[in-house]
Amino acid sequence: MRTRLIAGNWKMNGSTALINDFSSAFADVTLPEAVDVVVIPPFPYLDAARQAFRNTPLQLGAQTLNPIDSGAHTGEVSGRMLKELEVAYVLVGHSERRELYRESDEQVFDRLLAALNVGLKPILCVGESLAERDAGQTMDVVLRQVGYAMARLDPEQRQQVVIAYEPVWAIGTGRTATPEQAQEVMAGIRAYQAGFNTALAEQLTLLYGGSMNAKNAAELLAQPDIDGGLVGGASLKTDDFYAICQSA
Ligand code: PEP
Repeated sequence: MRTRLIAGNWKMNGSTALINDFSSAFADVTLPEAVDVVVIPPFPYLDAARQAFRNTPLQLGAQTLNPIDSGAHTGEVSGRMLKELEVAYVLVGHSERRELYRESDEQVFDRLLAALNVGLKPILCVGESLAERDAGQTMDVVLRQVGYAMARLDPEQRQQVVIAYEPVWAIGTGRTATPEQAQEVMAGIRAYQAGFNTALAEQLTLLYGGSMNAKNAAELLAQPDIDGGLVGGASLKTDDFYAICQSA
């Protein structure tokens, strides 16, 4: 059985007050069996979240990492530092990083490898723009992004990677992919993985991301190839995020 995972990406939002809200809302709760729930706050809040979430099932994630271990890279954070703060997951290749900070497939891969090398579980984010979807290039774009990374990993490394399919046109727009649209692409990603190894493809955890909320989560998560969600805006509202976790 594959791991089901709900991850809340706070992006450059949140506060110590929100961490305390989460800590109260998730204290002593029972989540659906075999569902991992991860909160991904900005770097400055990681340590406070680590302490506040001790009495909850919440795990910690980070939004990015630098590919190297240490050195003269002002403003950057390495995987080793994240591990010290008990971070379990790290996003790589989020579309905002690809777009706003010009991260190429090659740079995304360097981060992915750095995460694997220190024992962090990478969540590799992939997805097409609206122009690419309209041009009928969705599968080409998504499989290029997936393939660039996966083809360079060995089988053991591949097993550690979670993939989040996030159509760029659905991120933060309130416009969600239909369950059928999401399922079609995710089945394509799993089929691509099966080209390496069918057993591995069956174990691959695939997340949908893009305006997932408390209302649409259940329908998306019911699709056969959707194992969880990467949630942005709705992860800043404790009740909504809690409801999404219960749908998983
Ligand atoms: C995201 O940031 O990965 C995301 C999916 O955001 P939102 O849920 O706000 O669309």
